Amino acid sequence: MRVGILGGGQLGRMLALAGYPLGLSFRVFDPAPDACAGQVVPDCVTAAFDDEAALRRFSDGLDVVTYEWENVPVETVRFLSRLVPVYPPAEALEDSQDRFVEKSLFRQLGIATAPFAAVGSLEELRQSLRLIGLPAVLKTRRGGYDGKGQQVLRSAADVGPAWQELGGSPLILEGFVPFRRELSIIAVRAPRGAVVPRQQLDESADFAFYPLVENVHRGGILRTSRAPAPGVSEELQAEAEDIAARVMDATRYRGVLAVELFEHEGHLLANEMAPRVHNSGHWSIEGAETSQFENHLRAVCGLPLGATAPLGHSAMVNLIGAVPKSDEVLAVPGAHLHLYGKEPRPGRKLGHVTVRRGAVSAIESSLSQIARLIENERG
Ligand code: AMP
Repeated sequence: MRVGILGGGQLGRMLALAGYPLGLSFRVFDPAPDACAGQVVPDCVTAAFDDEAALRRFSDGLDVVTYEWENVPVETVRFLSRLVPVYPPAEALEDSQDRFVEKSLFRQLGIATAPFAAVGSLEELRQSLRLIGLPAVLKTRRGGYDGKGQQVLRSAADVGPAWQELGGSPLILEGFVPFRRELSIIAVRAPRGAVVPRQQLDESADFAFYPLVENVHRGGILRTSRAPAPGVSEELQAEAEDIAARVMDATRYRGVLAVELFEHEGHLLANEMAPRVHNSGHWSIEGAETSQFENHLRAVCGLPLGATAPLGHSAMVNLIGAVPKSDEVLAVPGAHLHLYGKEPRPGRKLGHVTVRRGAVSAIESSLSQIARLIENERG
């Protein structure tokens, strides 16, 4: 099958690398001529997402289109959907692009979240604060990622400056969750039968779920994931799977969905979802029977899903802004290096290292060695 990928970043690159052994071929669409997926996919269309002639050229001869970036305009996906099946469905993409719509969907599906309210004016912010209380988090509804476009409000004195900073855009106010830790679930849904432009309402589907992953963020950016997350009960795993399954059934989903969660008082609150392969699933390349990238492709191409069982213990560390020397990384026991072929820039995700080992203590020892290499590189 020929698969089109909207977005040519590292996720597109890793999708292609996972798909070639299955006999799939790829075409990438990205506005940037130096998109890093282009290093492994020669067939690239470089154009703006609203260039209809380019989108037509892109779709020509493709069997299915997917996307690797959640800010692909929904209109682009809707336009392409008239020419070729596009998965995950536009509805899931649209819901995930607006934090208020997304949290409203969670609420409507009976999924617990932090208390939240839409905020369009300083007066509405003050009203919502009276209901939600302090501390709280003020976020832009759209466009924020990696912790950008949000402010924590700890006291009344923070309200004015936060409004100054963010008030130009539609906002959402959320109660601050004093979570025990951050977890995520990577789930896959594949409706049975051929890949057709619109799935039937009464479809039956196969599901696969990876074990819950524990994530550590710094400055709003994911630094480290541990998989499986230590100390997760069967009940908590089932709670996470139920959350993902509700969202996927409601949106007639096909592909991988990631849901970021807070563990709080023994239960899960949904924070956000990504209708695509996810940074907290990179460990699955070496650490699971079938990687998230392969399973996403299997789902969107109508192929049987692969097992998601973990192989020992894994941890993934992002390489952000700078990359330690390859020979030193590769000398760390259990380390697997993935470089994305991107120009170094501060704050940019340039690669990741996955460590896979038999025991949690061994993982932690390798992680400390990698942390030292990253520190040394930063000087
Ligand atoms: P987000 O962009 O929503 O994923 O937020 C980035 C990070 O900010 C999350 O990974 C959390 O560490 C933190 N955060 C976001 N929302 C909340 C909240 N309501 N309560 C506590 N921490 C939050």
